[in-house]
Amino acid sequence: MDSTPRGSLTRASRFPIAVLKETPSDAEIVSHQLMLRAGLIRRAASGVYTWLPMGMRVLNKVQEIVRSSMNRHGAMEVLMPVLNPGELWRHSGRWDDYGPDLMRLTDRHGREFCLGPTHEEIITDTLRQELHSHAQLPCNFYQIQTKFRDEVRPRFGVMRGREFIMKDAYSFHTSQECMDEGYQAMHDAYCEIFDRLGIDYIAVRADSGNIGGSLSHEFQMLAESGEDVIVCSDTSDYAANLEFAEALPPELPAGDGSESLERVATPGCTTIDDVCTHLNVPPERTIKILALAGSDDAPAVAVALRGDHSLAELKLARLNLGVAQPVQLLEGEALAGLGLVPGSIAPFDLPIPLVVDRDAAALSDFVCGAGAPDMHCTGVNWARDVGEIQVHDLRNVCEGEPSPDGSGKLVFRRGIEVGHIFQLGTKYSDALGLRVLGADGKPITPLMGCYGLGVTRVVAAAIEQNHDEQGIVWPQPMAPFHVVVVLLNPAGRRALTECAEALGQSLAEAGCEVLLEDTEERAGAKFASTELLGIPHRLVVSERNVEAGEIEYRSRSAEQSEQWPIQEAAQRLLRRLRT
Ligand code: ATP
Ligand code: MG
Repeated sequence: MDSTPRGSLTRASRFPIAVLKETPSDAEIVSHQLMLRAGLIRRAASGVYTWLPMGMRVLNKVQEIVRSSMNRHGAMEVLMPVLNPGELWRHSGRWDDYGPDLMRLTDRHGREFCLGPTHEEIITDTLRQELHSHAQLPCNFYQIQTKFRDEVRPRFGVMRGREFIMKDAYSFHTSQECMDEGYQAMHDAYCEIFDRLGIDYIAVRADSGNIGGSLSHEFQMLAESGEDVIVCSDTSDYAANLEFAEALPPELPAGDGSESLERVATPGCTTIDDVCTHLNVPPERTIKILALAGSDDAPAVAVALRGDHSLAELKLARLNLGVAQPVQLLEGEALAGLGLVPGSIAPFDLPIPLVVDRDAAALSDFVCGAGAPDMHCTGVNWARDVGEIQVHDLRNVCEGEPSPDGSGKLVFRRGIEVGHIFQLGTKYSDALGLRVLGADGKPITPLMGCYGLGVTRVVAAAIEQNHDEQGIVWPQPMAPFHVVVVLLNPAGRRALTECAEALGQSLAEAGCEVLLEDTEERAGAKFASTELLGIPHRLVVSERNVEAGEIEYRSRSAEQSEQWPIQEAAQRLLRRLRT
């Protein structure tokens, strides 16, 4: 068993990193501001940070919790190289597919490498040489390691860095049933990790993006500053990423299809709003057609949506129609070259393939472009006027519509993605030639799962969720110290200093991580900086208190302080820490 002493006493006077009084002007969100002000991180370059001692203490706590829960759920720790041979990435196809986020370099011999943004290639290639038999599966390997992604917009400090720490795990299975069990074990491990960290999160169904595969969940921490939109039911536990949430097919077709098609003049009307105002129709009775660029040599594609709806780009991408990613609206000459008129593309006689969203397809007697400048059509009907159409769910859901699980209405919330788990299928085992012998002696290609958790992002996200006017309010499991002992005006008062030292020592011996605020700062400055740091418990040793045989105690999240008898202070605090 581990006999390492856990407690420690750290003197603020020996911790030479100042907290900042001013809010740094380049930090947009509160966690970034507080991480700089509390001396957790310092910027080295855009999206690249140094973790200072105070930040490292927090980061280490997160890593310890992640590591122990991963171990408890049967994963084995490894450490893969940051430097990845380009050749492996060519084998998987991601040298090209990953795009400019991949940081590439060339060694002195002219060989290509990249800095790993994720490690499917390396783990699969390594295990190709280690796994031979179905009897070695299932297995799951993880690492906690620095990743590199040349993000388009690094921002919010370590929330979206170009260099960041991720826990990434990869599992290997011989059957779908075994894959499902392994996936569930990781789902459970993630819940355990976020519960142990003391943060508020939800698991949501998600799209598996460009990584391939089928089943996927994101772990999202709800916060106003979150970059992701989470769609939840107001009555059930349905929760999904906006990109994933299914738009239910409309119950009743709108219009009865009795109108006849007419071409009407709409001078100067190029937007849905213009057309609706001019013709006095609501946007939900109109169709807009987006002409989207194809990728590489693929032709352009037209997408029809109801006027009030927006395109769900990932739903479209899943159809594999060869549309460029991210989507690009055709404009100017590209549009004119196809004979299409901006603001008035018509669904009929299109020179490019058309896909129609379900809700758009359910309309009859609708308004749409007429394929001519300053003209629109009214009373249009798909079957009569356009013919056979390809229909898919292609739009983003809207707030207030029925939840796809049949229970309640949809509400939108904002979240920060802190974890993402996927079933990958055989994409990487196929591409990199990983096979094992099955029970019947025939080779099988293992199914894979991959599981990412943003270790550095969790720290920032936890601050987004836990702060007040004065600063950070750490959930106890992540706090850099358990308790701060604030020594007020120690100059020339030996007995007072000794009292604070003795209290700090006895707490440290009992296993607490203690910060002793023993600097020469004024009382006000000490209180401000310890509040900013967010340490959950504070004990104040002052002349007035000590003369009365007391210590002042305050929890970081409480309004009021309490007076405790000096002799009982250590015991009382330990009891608080245990609850
Ligand atoms: P995002 O949509 O935020 O870019 P992602 O889908 O690219 O995330 P994954 O590839 O699933 O992320 O990576 C796993 C985890 O790594 C994410 O859930 C997130 O917590 C973290 N992460 C991803 N990109 C960054 C980044 N640039 N900075 C910090 N953490 C990140
Ligand atoms: Mg990303």
